[in-house]
Amino acid sequence: MKENGVDVSGGMIPQIDDVRQLLAENPAVEISAEDLHRMLCFDCADELLPPGAADRIRANGAYNCRGLSMEQLEQVVISLLKPSRVRHVLGCRDAAIALAKKWGADETDAGRAGLLHDITKALDGPLQLTLCRAYGTMLDDFSKENPKTLHALTGALVAQRIFGENQAVVEAVRSHTTGKANMNLLQKIIYVADYMEPNRDFPGVEELRELAFRDIDLALKTGLEMTISMLRLQNREISKESQEALQWLDERMNKTC
Ligand code: FE
Ligand code: FE
Repeated sequence: MKENGVDVSGGMIPQIDDVRQLLAENPAVEISAEDLHRMLCFDCADELLPPGAADRIRANGAYNCRGLSMEQLEQVVISLLKPSRVRHVLGCRDAAIALAKKWGADETDAGRAGLLHDITKALDGPLQLTLCRAYGTMLDDFSKENPKTLHALTGALVAQRIFGENQAVVEAVRSHTTGKANMNLLQKIIYVADYMEPNRDFPGVEELRELAFRDIDLALKTGLEMTISMLRLQNREISKESQEALQWLDERMNKTC
């Protein structure tokens, strides 16, 4: 530091001429802090960070999400969702527990699957694909072209690998958007709870809520038919799983008539 050309820093501050200038390599990463938190928690941030950084974060155990109680799981899930989705997910958890009570399914599994069903929904298409690459998951052409529809698959992978959930919970998360043939009770409950949780608001939702507590198969069939007719109206592709689910339900219901 100089005043009137005299060094008054006591020689502590080096003059610019004395300093070797170094250029630090710091490649910019196009990702928000919230998405980086999500990708670190889902253990798939390696390709987004400088080499070794994800390993160091992994080694200090900051993102260990196994063995969480229901209350701890709720807090972690809330931290990973977009704020606008929190009410829906908590509503789905409550509806799933109420339906499990009514139909005799495991209430803990129902609550955990309800909390986790949209766990990766905040990730955009490219980040969904990054997660699949990190996990070594092969995708069909439909998924590659429509990566936004991947959240049921990636949610199930995360429920298993990151949260250590049991197979029943993982499979209920997996089938929550499209349904599938031979759905078990928990899978039906999560599909229907996602559709009729208390924050949903569309014509016919009150009837669907009432139906869910009277006939879970008919509620599932109604949900599938509503989704398929909406997709047809929008000229969008209908998943093979939804078509097979509807065919399976029709055959089942015809047999019991
Ligand atoms: Fe969903
Ligand atoms: Fe949902």
